[in-house]
Amino acid sequence: MDCIVCGSPQVEIKFDLMPERQILCCLKCGVEFLYPQMNDEELKKLYSGNSYQALGVQDTRDNGSTKKMKIATFRLRLSLIRNYVTTGKVLDVGCATGYFLEAAKEEGFQPYGVELSEYSSQIAKDKLGEENVFCGTLEQCSFPPKMFDVITMSDLIQHVRIPAQTLSKAAGLLKDDGLIMIMMPDTKTVSNNLMGRRWTHYKPEHFFYFSHGSMSYLAGKCNLHIMHYEKSKKALNIEYLHTQYNAYRHWLLTPVVNLLHALLPAKARKKNFYFSIGEMVVILKKNRP
Ligand SMILES: [Zn+2]
Repeated sequence: MDCIVCGSPQVEIKFDLMPERQILCCLKCGVEFLYPQMNDEELKKLYSGNSYQALGVQDTRDNGSTKKMKIATFRLRLSLIRNYVTTGKVLDVGCATGYFLEAAKEEGFQPYGVELSEYSSQIAKDKLGEENVFCGTLEQCSFPPKMFDVITMSDLIQHVRIPAQTLSKAAGLLKDDGLIMIMMPDTKTVSNNLMGRRWTHYKPEHFFYFSHGSMSYLAGKCNLHIMHYEKSKKALNIEYLHTQYNAYRHWLLTPVVNLLHALLPAKARKKNFYFSIGEMVVILKKNRP
């Protein structure tokens, strides 16, 4: 199996994720990837199961404390974007029900979204306008070239089958002085080193695992470069983690979170705190011709 990002045949097995699937690591570009990828049928089965709700993608119209928590995270992301761009059109790829775009709209951006789920995209359309949200993949959308000032992808790039295809399409939709912000798990983190195969981001629906180095390689392939990199912080609360870790059981975190959930009063369980959980944010710009 050659590396899907750089094409190198120098790929080694890092470990078995499940009996029939492995995490492979490319010795040239450093990307880690799942082999074989789950097929569409398997993904559909996974996403229709109860545990999928833990990902937060199927959030219904309003779930008070989860919404507040997500919006707190999105405000952090927006403040990072506003260091570089303060107005214009924002495209959120994998926009789900449109939380991030709602926050962006409030801060003066024009919101656009792409969302694969028909259910979620309909909610986003209701909020942001029929024409502003495309239901499908980024590759399928027909927004005109160089339309956007900002393109964001949160927890998306690890799910796509061919990251270079997705990122190239994004680069084509971006204005020459625009920026792409990607939030994703980071393999060069303490949590990855400590937890090894039990790292919480190693999941069968995550096909790719990047670091600064491998993301830099991928960006270069798409005529982009990394302008900014940081460890990503997320707003979290115990209520949310309790749902998440009981749907996706973890040998250590599930009992710890359950204990906290039992001990804390309801108000404290819903209080947000900011935490870095093995993820990174990168801002990409186009290379000058
Ligand atoms: Zn590679």
